[in-house]
Amino acid sequence: MDIRTYGDPTLRRRAAPVEEIDNEILTICEQMVEAMIRANGAGLAAPQIGISKQIIVLDVDGQFHVLINPRLVETSEETEQISEGCLSVPGVDAPVDRATRAVLEGTTLEGETVRIEGEGILARAMQHEMDHLNGNLFLDRLSPARRRSLLKEYQRSRREEDG
Ligand SMILES: [Zn+2]
Repeated sequence: MDIRTYGDPTLRRRAAPVEEIDNEILTICEQMVEAMIRANGAGLAAPQIGISKQIIVLDVDGQFHVLINPRLVETSEETEQISEGCLSVPGVDAPVDRATRAVLEGTTLEGETVRIEGEGILARAMQHEMDHLNGNLFLDRLSPARRRSLLKEYQRSRREEDG
């Protein structure tokens, strides 16, 4: 399962809620976990493998979560700027301002509602993956000038890879 990259329309769509955790959903979750591990990522959202559904996986600091229909229920007022990248915009990163603490609620594969509190990188990964479910990318959070230069850098690195 390939990870979709910048320019793929699925990355810009608002993902649909999951109605029922059936075999199809379980298979999607397996594919997401595989893709995340293979890419050495801290998280992945279903749109990144071309599936417009509200599912995210997280793997940060020994915390591993598969969440269906996650909702960001709390974010701290306090923010911090940390350099951030995305498996769908490979090869580039930029400092992004995000809440230092966040709380997610969602459903596990067993159908239980869970609440996950995160700080630092976990809080950041939560907010990053939630952006994906809304059709947003980390570069949307940069200033226009910064975004332009990041995209230029990204396109240059892609050309070198193809070349
Ligand atoms: Zn991402």
